Amino acid sequence: MLDKKKKFLQEIDVVSFFSVFVLYRLFLFCSSIVLSLIYANQLRKTSTRDKKIEKNLKMLLKEDYKVWVIPSTDMNAFTFGTKEIFLFHGIKQKMNMNEIIAICLHEISHIKKYHPLKTTLADPIFAILYATIEVALDLIFPNLLYFFVVAYFIVFKISKAQLSQKFEWDSDDFAIKMGYGNYLASAFMKIQKQYKIPEKMTFYEKMIEFFQSHPHITKRIKHALKKKEVLKDIVTSKSIYSATIVLLHHSGLTLIYDKYMKDNSFKNKIMSLAEKIQQKLNLKIRGF
Ligand SMILES: [Zn+2]
Repeated sequence: MLDKKKKFLQEIDVVSFFSVFVLYRLFLFCSSIVLSLIYANQLRKTSTRDKKIEKNLKMLLKEDYKVWVIPSTDMNAFTFGTKEIFLFHGIKQKMNMNEIIAICLHEISHIKKYHPLKTTLADPIFAILYATIEVALDLIFPNLLYFFVVAYFIVFKISKAQLSQKFEWDSDDFAIKMGYGNYLASAFMKIQKQYKIPEKMTFYEKMIEFFQSHPHITKRIKHALKKKEVLKDIVTSKSIYSATIVLLHHSGLTLIYDKYMKDNSFKNKIMSLAEKIQQKLNLKIRGF
């Protein structure tokens, strides 16, 4: 009788523990939406629109996006999911127009695929799903409660991180498929240099990689330089301008990158040469 009572109380504890956690995640979910709205509004008041970048994006995508520049030397960019991109001024200072467009295309992919909304929704969904599994498991294996509690938080964190990493790869792919892989890579290289991120991952970084929201920057650089498949994008491009740009970006230069990837000085020379060619060609194309 006493044992039964003890077991009943334990079940109540497990259910209430996870109920509190789920309620906490739901509270975070609601507050993050409200805070994002307030923050976005505040940013619009303190930032300035960049019409030149907006015009270039419109030419490429035939769609309107607002580009806000935040007065900060940070090198970062983000979106709330509305058709707005927020760039830190550091990006404008240190990057050329093609690299900025590559970064914007990455953000636009987040907008087009509703990544910010999906990420916000995933939090309470994971919390409820895993809490249900946890309570069920506790009924079957009552002695392993502490193990399951620890596992719960690890699995919760990994699921969120892996979803976020998937969205990052998807968005890098969008910029790559639009023909901006080389520029995305050089933009990442500048970020890596600015924040002194070592090229090689340390043992610790490899260990915690599963829990990170973004893939390691060296991996992203290699990925952006290696991807070449764009033919279907050329066929489906909305304008002659974007089709031409996609073709130009993939006119064999990526093959050279792959072969000499390890030779940094050669790679840099090719990068600057490609950039000069690109800028000249871009000017010509804009003329018609
Ligand atoms: Zn991203």
